Amino acid sequence: MSTRYSPANNLERKELTIAWCLAHGLVIRPNSPSDSSAVHAPVALYPSLFPSKEFKLALELQPVFNTLYYKLSQSHEFIKVFEVISKVDEFIEQLYNIYLTVKEEGFSQPISLGIHRSDYILHSSPNAEEAHIKQVEFNTIASSFSSLSSLTSDLHRYLSKSINHVDPSQTPDDEALPSNESMTSIPRGIAKAHQLYGSKSAVVLMVVQSGERNVFDQRWIEYVLLNNHGVHLIRRTLSEIYNEGKLDPRTKALMIDGKEISVTYFRSGYGPRDHPSEKEWEARMLIERSNSIKCPTIAYQLVGSKKVQQILTVPGVLERYISDPQEIEKLRSCFTGIHPLDSSPEGEKAVKDALENPERYVMKPQREGGGNNIYAQDIPPTLSKLTLSERSSYILMDLIQPPPMRNVVLKDGEITEDDVVSELGIYGIIIGKGNEEIVNEVGGHLLRTKGRKTNEGGVATGYAVLDSPLLF
Ligand code: ADP
Ligand code: MG
Ligand code: MG
Repeated sequence: MSTRYSPANNLERKELTIAWCLAHGLVIRPNSPSDSSAVHAPVALYPSLFPSKEFKLALELQPVFNTLYYKLSQSHEFIKVFEVISKVDEFIEQLYNIYLTVKEEGFSQPISLGIHRSDYILHSSPNAEEAHIKQVEFNTIASSFSSLSSLTSDLHRYLSKSINHVDPSQTPDDEALPSNESMTSIPRGIAKAHQLYGSKSAVVLMVVQSGERNVFDQRWIEYVLLNNHGVHLIRRTLSEIYNEGKLDPRTKALMIDGKEISVTYFRSGYGPRDHPSEKEWEARMLIERSNSIKCPTIAYQLVGSKKVQQILTVPGVLERYISDPQEIEKLRSCFTGIHPLDSSPEGEKAVKDALENPERYVMKPQREGGGNNIYAQDIPPTLSKLTLSERSSYILMDLIQPPPMRNVVLKDGEITEDDVVSELGIYGIIIGKGNEEIVNEVGGHLLRTKGRKTNEGGVATGYAVLDSPLLF
C-alpha cells in the first residue's frame, strides 16, 4: 500500500468528504426510497492521475464531435440505417416509427439542442509506452452527472487545500486539478435554446423518471437555470405528460398544466423501462410533434446509438461529414475496433473472432443507461441464441485495456482501496438550425472510477464513483 493511501489519511479524508458532500449538495437519494433524505454521492477520496496531453485531446475533439453528431441527426439518409434494426428491436422500432410519422407530417421546430457526453478510457497496448484515450461511447440523450461532477472537482480541490494547509506547496495547482464548468455549461445551453424559442412566459420541461435517485444532479440544473438565467423549469414523467400535455392546434406549442414549453430536456425516455405502456409512447409522440426545442429529438437520440458509432469507423464515412483531414485523423485516433455482427463479410469474421477469443470483446445492443452489455465469456452463448437478423442489432467492440491504477472509493459511508479504471467524459453543447450552428461549446468534464474487475461503469447503476482528474 502506498503511503498516500495510509489508513490514517483515508479516515481523515473520509470524514472530511462526507461532511463536504452533505453540506454542498454532492448527494443522491438513499437506496430505500425517501422523499426527505439524501446521502453523500459515491466518490473517490483522491483525484485519479490522468495524462494532461490526453485530457487536452479529449477537449479538442469535442467541438468536432458536436458538429458530426448534429449533422448525423439532420440526415435522413443516415437515419435510414435504423430501418433494419427496427425489424428486430421493438424499442428502436417505436422510436423510428415516431420519427417517420413526424417527418411525414413536417417537423414544427427547426432548432435543436444537443447536450452530449463523449466517454473515453485510457488504452495502453502492450508495446506502447504511453496510454491513449479510446472512445467508449457518445451519448446524445440524458447525459448525466454534469452538476455532481463539477462539485466533485470542487471537493477534491477542497480536500487537498484542507489536508495540506500546513504545507500548501503540496497542493496541486489549478492546472493539475482543472476547473470544471459543467455545473453552469448545461443550464447555459438550455437557457440559450429557451431564448431562441422566443417566448418570455414559456418554461423548460425536464422529462424525468419516477423514483430517480440521481435527482439532485438534475435539481442543480433547475437552480442554475433560474439563478443565472431567470428561466423556470418544471419536472414531469412521461405518464404525467400523457395526462396533462396538449398541443395548441394552430402553433403546435406544447402546453403542460397551462404552461407553454420552450425546451423539452430528456432525463428519461432512453430505454424500454421508461415506456411501460402505450401512454408513455403517446407522450413521446406529443413532444416530438410539438414546436418545443427537443433535447434531443428522436433522430438525435437514434444517432447516439452504438450502431452509429460502429458505422463511423468504416473507412470513408467520416469524410462525408467533416472536410478537414486533420480533424478526421484526430477523431480516428480515438476509435477502437468496432465491428458489425451482420451477414457482411466483416460481420461473419467478427462472429468467428468473438466465438474464438471472446475475452477480447464486449458486445453491445442499441441501449443506454448501463447494465445492457455482454462481456467476454458471456458472448458465445448469447451469440449462439440469436438469429442472423437479431445479431445485426448488436455491435462487437474491442475491449479497451487501461493502465493499472489504484484509488480509495467511498460508497454508502464505507471506504475500499482497490485497483481501478477511470472513464473520462467530456460534455458538449450544440444548438443548430438547419445548416447553421448557433452554439458549439465544450461544457466541462466527468471522471468516473470503478473497480478494475467490474465490467460495467455507471455511477447511477452503482458500479462506479464520481472522481476528478489530477493531470500530469
Ligand atoms: P451505456 O450506454 O449503457 O453507458 P457503454 O457503452 O458506456 O454503455 O458501456 C457501459 C460501460 O461498460 C462503460 O462505462 C465501460 O465501463 C464499459 N465498457 C464499454 N465499452 C467498453 C470497451 N470497449 N472496453 C472496456 N470497457 C468498456
Ligand atoms: Mg456509458
Ligand atoms: Mg450511453
